[in-house]
Amino acid sequence: MVTDEIFVSEVLLNRIKKLHRHFGNTPLHHFSRMVPQKGVMLFAKKEWQQMGGSVKTRAAYYIFRSAIEFGWLNEHKTLLDATSGNTGISYAALGKELGIPVTLCLPENASSERKEILKALGAEIIYTSRFEGTDGAQQVARELAEQYPDKYFYADQYKNDNNWKAHYHTTAVEIYHAIPGITHFVAGLGTSGTFVGTGRRLKEYNPNIKLISLQPDSAMHALEGWKHMETAMVPAIYDDVLADETAEVSTEEAFETLVAIYQQEGLLVSPSSAANIAGAIRIANSLKSGIVVTVMPDNSDKYSDIISRLF
Ligand code: PMP
Repeated sequence: MVTDEIFVSEVLLNRIKKLHRHFGNTPLHHFSRMVPQKGVMLFAKKEWQQMGGSVKTRAAYYIFRSAIEFGWLNEHKTLLDATSGNTGISYAALGKELGIPVTLCLPENASSERKEILKALGAEIIYTSRFEGTDGAQQVARELAEQYPDKYFYADQYKNDNNWKAHYHTTAVEIYHAIPGITHFVAGLGTSGTFVGTGRRLKEYNPNIKLISLQPDSAMHALEGWKHMETAMVPAIYDDVLADETAEVSTEEAFETLVAIYQQEGLLVSPSSAANIAGAIRIANSLKSGIVVTVMPDNSDKYSDIISRLF
């Protein structure tokens, strides 16, 4: 279909629809050893078990699909966004399948594994200041989008409602159907898409489900993917009244938990996954009965520097 201003590509539309089966529907792990008390259970979704290797493929798919449906993204445009890594890998993997070029603004201190994966998937990388993190990367992406509006579709995962909607329509539905007795949902905040989308839908299913958001305990932390909201640029999609409770996790607690998860549950996960589990275990330990659910955004594959220091 061609209109005056937008061009909806039927070819791309068919391609993105076919990719639907490659994301989501991740398995749940029951943390039976780390939470052995009777009457309390902890489950976490293994989000690395989907295309792109992380939770972010859910958001990236929804962002791509709506942009193609609305004609904002077609064969003549490049997808542009700021990312600390995982969203970029998901964009690049999807872009490669779709035949859409992907340009990413990435803080220069992103891990070497991330850079290698992004290059292997054919993404163009624009490095941004290591001192300004993803906030600095966002600034550069915004400027590029303003300068070259005809070249880029600026995905803006921090503002794009399709980020949280992906979790509203997939993560929450998968969790509730697998565990209708869920009493608590716990998740760390990055763009906040996972917490906001999953939390909103779970509250609609059952308003008694308690939502607990997690944050790093200080601006200086090593929980890749998490934001310290007090000192960072707050994402436009963040809903600060959704959580029933908020809690902090220190990098040290997350690293200790990462080792414990490996020793007791046999999973080698990322720092932010371990931080989610640390926060979820605290909630589980405060309960007489209940079912606590969280997500593990990715595994340890992209964190060899941290893993080699911890083991
Ligand atoms: N952990 C990791 C490893 C991530 O890449 C992200 C995404 N930034 C998150 C947690 C947070 O997810 P969300 O952006 O949905 O809040």
